[in-house]
Amino acid sequence: MAKCFFCEHKIDPTYKEFENIEKFLSPRKKIINRERSGVCAKHQRMLTHEIKYARFLALLPYVSYQGMK
Ligand SMILES: [Zn+2]
Repeated sequence: MAKCFFCEHKIDPTYKEFENIEKFLSPRKKIINRERSGVCAKHQRMLTHEIKYARFLALLPYVSYQGMK
């Protein structure tokens, strides 16, 4: 299993660095689950929270309309 991205870089997920949290969104802008991302339980919980907050601030879209009709 891949090492947790946030543990490896010794950072915490934050909406302020949404380039980092955006990596954990699927092409359809769904949050990638822990099994696929390799993020640890602690950071996955923080990540989910930060993604929701980033969406609230309109930094990230709720859904992607790319490739959809
Ligand atoms: Zn971690």
